[in-house]
Amino acid sequence: MDGIYVFKGRNEGSMFTCTDWLTLHGLSAPRVKGIIASFGPGKFEHLPPPLNTDRKASLENAFISNKLSSQERCYRNFVVPALVSVFDNESEVRHLLCNHVEFRALSASEEAPYTICQGSGEPPVILMDWRGQPEDLLCLAHEAAHALQILLSNHELMPPVARETCAFIGELLLLDYVETHVPYLHGPLLDVWHSENSFYLGDCVDLLIDALNHPELSYHYYQNYPLARLAAVQMFSIANNESVCKLFSSGKEAMAHLPIDEMASFATEMENPFPVLQPSDAEHPVVGVYQSLGVMALLDIESSRKASYQCIESYYLNLLDHLQARTAFIALDNDMKPVGYTTWIESNSENNLVLTCQTALPNNRLNLQRALEQYISTTKGVDASYTRNASKEMLVW
Ligand SMILES: [Zn+2]
Repeated sequence: MDGIYVFKGRNEGSMFTCTDWLTLHGLSAPRVKGIIASFGPGKFEHLPPPLNTDRKASLENAFISNKLSSQERCYRNFVVPALVSVFDNESEVRHLLCNHVEFRALSASEEAPYTICQGSGEPPVILMDWRGQPEDLLCLAHEAAHALQILLSNHELMPPVARETCAFIGELLLLDYVETHVPYLHGPLLDVWHSENSFYLGDCVDLLIDALNHPELSYHYYQNYPLARLAAVQMFSIANNESVCKLFSSGKEAMAHLPIDEMASFATEMENPFPVLQPSDAEHPVVGVYQSLGVMALLDIESSRKASYQCIESYYLNLLDHLQARTAFIALDNDMKPVGYTTWIESNSENNLVLTCQTALPNNRLNLQRALEQYISTTKGVDASYTRNASKEMLVW
């Protein structure tokens, strides 16, 4: 699924940082941030909706396990027909998928499935383990789409965001195919697709935003996933078959076939809704404490942390204790607006800190962590400190 090793050391051999990544894709950091920020209800074409929880029970269904027991049968019966459905030259694409793709199991040291291009004239190889689960089938569609994109573009390498878009389109083609032809698989596969969004549109977004804020950091393959996931959904919803076919066979020019301009047209600035926070006045420390309590409560609300089930009295007393013990920390951005807070307890052994709460605005979790690490490692007990770039300044009470 990850494709972390795909083509590594070839066209990406010189891609070390986020700046290199942006250049390779013809993107800019504000443009990418804008697209990510605008991802939300009503902005993009709809993601397939989640199903009700009753369907989850079907994941355990012995009938389904039985149907998914053979990787080869699943490939021929579900994945190949799903992928060919979008192409005019259906029989040619079917021939490529059935006769020019190799399969291998992962070796003991490999964790994530991937697909390798062996060069012109050689079949692409899909490496994955098969346990007969719905997630394996979705993964097989993902990797088969990689293999197809390699074959159709004559082994010319695509920029990674484009190639992952192809793979995610493969997943959506499978979902679409089973909805009509194999309906008992649709619910379980859709559940897997939604649960994987928490990685692709959650953890990977944190990683991408962190890379954009710190362009000197090393490139990580995961930073390709958010844009690719969104572009795939967008293309699948609105593009015609012809555009999808062009993308699959486009090789190194593939970025021109992604709906980046369209996605960017929805973009908005990632606005921090908070007012500028003034440092607490040494002469009125109580005001500083009240201000901090208010900021923490608002951050909990803004970040949708489920804090409201707590008793209000214990909620505030807990935070007040932390403020008085100086075991609370509010991170501010460059404009002196709050982006998150954290509380901790100090354990006796080896000066360890145990975090008891971390709340951050969307896309700011890593900013908060970096700011906290900086504070704890260098300025413990000091009222203000600095970290690099985004959350440059912070205050502590
Ligand atoms: Zn992939």
